Amino acid sequence: MTPDYQAILQTIYAEVRPLLSQGRVASYIPQLSTIDPQQFGMAIYCLDGTTYAIGDAEKKFSLQSITKLFALALAFSREGDSIWARVGREPSGNPFNSLVQIEYEKGKPRNPFINAGALVISDILSSRFVQSDIAVLQFARMISGQANVDFDPAVAESERATAHRNYAIAHLMKDFGNLHNPVDLVIDSYCRQCSITMTCTELAQAGSFLAQHGTIPWNDTSILDPSSAKRLNALMLTCGTYDAAGDFAYRVGLPAKSGVGGGILALVPGELAVAVWSPGLDATGNSLAGTYALERFTTLTARSIF
Ligand code: GLU
Repeated sequence: MTPDYQAILQTIYAEVRPLLSQGRVASYIPQLSTIDPQQFGMAIYCLDGTTYAIGDAEKKFSLQSITKLFALALAFSREGDSIWARVGREPSGNPFNSLVQIEYEKGKPRNPFINAGALVISDILSSRFVQSDIAVLQFARMISGQANVDFDPAVAESERATAHRNYAIAHLMKDFGNLHNPVDLVIDSYCRQCSITMTCTELAQAGSFLAQHGTIPWNDTSILDPSSAKRLNALMLTCGTYDAAGDFAYRVGLPAKSGVGGGILALVPGELAVAVWSPGLDATGNSLAGTYALERFTTLTARSIF
């Protein structure tokens, strides 16, 4: 029986209110530090096209690391398994912007969702497309069905101007031969890609092809074959929520990808995609209220994958 999703969203919305003052907005990207942390939105896109939304679900927010999922899906769909020669598929157990593993793993990042791995994916896309950030933007527009999805130039510039750690990661990988394009080009593209904004409603719709085994549900466009979609779902489960992926699986039990803008996209394979946004983050960089909301979502609907 289909749960009453709107009633469940209302319950969750009431429950998360006391949490909205507890998280901390990301401040290492100066432009993100100005966001009001008291916001919360959540949206569900069912594969039959039914949608549900609550709170600030129609407000645009910075997708940040959630775009790593789009970039990976694009690279995987074009380049296939060859990408795994340059980036691994293991949880890192380290912060998303850590440098340490790159040194002792000789320039090969542990997975495509930490910054090092996402920079390699940007590099792969930069070798294939004239501008990798534009390619990711067009991909984001296609999978969301929203032509108005765009970059936020102020956020992109704010991140690029303070991207010392990402420059360090990129230079170290370049030294190991795992970055083929100029460091400046890769960082610029990556910062613009990360600045893409969407609403929860748009993000849930954008994720729906991954819930439907690689095919966009509303127009039957095949983005990935079912086996590749299964693999991306597995990576989301094991690596998609920073070094809290184990705890996130324990609490929520869904494949998901989070970003430091406070968004989380989660999938119930074969049924729906759900997006939540609340800018206050916990100590691991995941949205504090967003993670709790998804935990309550799978508990109230019995819709975890386990
Ligand atoms: N653009 C951000 C960075 O590279 C993304 C981080 C994130 O959302 O995890 O630091």
